[in-house]
Amino acid sequence: MAQSREADRFKNESARVLAVCFVLAVALAIGVGQAATQFHLREGQARAEAMLNLTASALSGWLRRFEIVPQLLADDEPLRRLVMEPHAIDTEYRVSEAHRWLEERNAILGSSEIYVIGLDGTTLAASNHARPDSFVGQNFSYRPYFTEARSGRVGRFFGLGTTSGIRGYYFAGPIRDLAGRIVGVIAVKVGVDKVEAEWRSGVERIIVSDADGIAFMSSEPDWLYAAFKPLTAERLARAQASKRYADVTPREARVDRTAAGEVDLVTVGSRAAHLVEYIEVRRFMPAAGWSLHVLLDAAPLRAQARIVTGLFIALLGASALGLIALRQWRQRERDRLAMKEAAKIELERRVEERTVELETANRLIAAEVMERRATETELRRTQADLVQAGKLSALGRISAALSHEINQPLAAVRNYADSATLLIDRGETDRVRGNLHQILKLVDRMAAISRHLREVARKPETALQGVNLAEAVAEALAVCAARLAAVGAEVKTDLPEELGPARAGPVRLQQVLVNLLTNAADAVEGREMRRIHLFARRVGTRIFLTVSDSGPGVAPAIADRIFDPFFTTKGIGAGLGLGLSISYNIIKDFGGHLTVDRGLEGGAAFVVALDVADPGEQRGMAAE
Ligand code: ADP
Repeated sequence: MAQSREADRFKNESARVLAVCFVLAVALAIGVGQAATQFHLREGQARAEAMLNLTASALSGWLRRFEIVPQLLADDEPLRRLVMEPHAIDTEYRVSEAHRWLEERNAILGSSEIYVIGLDGTTLAASNHARPDSFVGQNFSYRPYFTEARSGRVGRFFGLGTTSGIRGYYFAGPIRDLAGRIVGVIAVKVGVDKVEAEWRSGVERIIVSDADGIAFMSSEPDWLYAAFKPLTAERLARAQASKRYADVTPREARVDRTAAGEVDLVTVGSRAAHLVEYIEVRRFMPAAGWSLHVLLDAAPLRAQARIVTGLFIALLGASALGLIALRQWRQRERDRLAMKEAAKIELERRVEERTVELETANRLIAAEVMERRATETELRRTQADLVQAGKLSALGRISAALSHEINQPLAAVRNYADSATLLIDRGETDRVRGNLHQILKLVDRMAAISRHLREVARKPETALQGVNLAEAVAEALAVCAARLAAVGAEVKTDLPEELGPARAGPVRLQQVLVNLLTNAADAVEGREMRRIHLFARRVGTRIFLTVSDSGPGVAPAIADRIFDPFFTTKGIGAGLGLGLSISYNIIKDFGGHLTVDRGLEGGAAFVVALDVADPGEQRGMAAE
């Protein structure tokens, strides 16, 4: 909620900033446009002024060249005589001489015409005497230059020739006699066409206007005789009085003057009716009574200003775009950094969480380890206690078994010895011998038991060897013969010759077999069928010797435990519960294994698996 309000505020602010920037940019663009226009117009003005200076000095020089001509020529004697004595006998000759003379001078000076006027204003001689538009006989008394010269001053005038219709500048000066009296006037007319032609080669438009603003000379033929000032009746009358423009009536030009800063602008309508704007500079030339105007087309300058403004706007736009892009990039960068920071914080939080979890787990594990160690110690202690108890119990049971095994033969030996004593007295030596034989057998049996116990007690460390299973079985059967006979067991063996020797210790193997046979005898004891079956087979390098009986078999519930030490189902004094445990470990020592299964006779079947002995291993029992 707060975040979206913040975003809205940011958006509004951005919009306001954008609007202000836009207004500023427009104002700036307008300002730049105006400044560029002003700059280019001023530049144009400077160019026009340079042109004005050039043109003005050229014009002044040009006028000065002809200004002194009347003065120079006025002193010429033939001319003076001609004007002094117009009616002399040789006039015709002098006139023609004057004509020729004027013609020559005109050609040398490059002026339009040179002519001599009498005091009444009639032209007496002229350089153009031979042409149809000759000035000879023309009266110029109306021309201001004539009146000026006649009064003794230098006459100047510019205007359209009334006879020739050609524009020109007129200079006139008095011709004096030797006494200094004015007797005539000499005038020079200079054409302006050449000067105008030079002006046309430039881009600037050049105008020369008279005091009333009427264009007398112009680089644009259209503008000739057009008034660049309002053409008042007074001005028009003045022009007509001097016949400056002969038959041509000046007209008013379509002119509109404005200003851009310090630059004067004038819009002039041409004959083609379209308006053209010019920069105008002008100068009054007092010697000639002229105003010189230089006009420069403003359109290219304005176009340049527009280009500069356009470029500026483009630059401004590009800068604005750049700024926007920069702003967006910075915003993105800020967002990215914020996201990175958030991710970092999240990661740190998770690491912290995980660390706490791990620490907890570690503490739990440590506690568990401690607990296990304690349990293990407790277990070991209990086990040690149990072993101790078991040992004591085993000792008691072994003692019981031992006394049973020894006491019986001892009692029998005593009986045999007692009866032998009586039989000796009776002289029945044969029966005495029989008794002694029995006694020897019993003693042998007791010795065997003793030996057996000794064998059990000691763990021989001797090496294994090849043992003939048939021999080992025969030995074991011999050891157990009494017991087997006692229970009335029917023993059957099936030990093929080709079995080969098994890898074992002969004495310990016999011990195992005795154990198994004793257990089998115990199992079949008192049963209707009392069969014990010993058989062996070879599978590859393994020999499997099975002792099976027709006893009750091993109940599945105790099958796992019968190999545990001291596990017995037999009553006190009857079983130690060590037989299978010892046997299991002995077979394991041989590299074989001892398992229990269900026998074919319905009882238990104990299987001894042994490796076949290497041929190099010694055979026999003596070595162990
Ligand atoms: P003990 O014979 O002194 O009891 P053993 O370790 O030799 O000790 O045997 C452990 C137990 O295994 C016996 O108490 C008996 O329950 C069972 N057992 C051993 N051999 C047989 C067998 N052939 N048939 C049935 N049960 C047997």
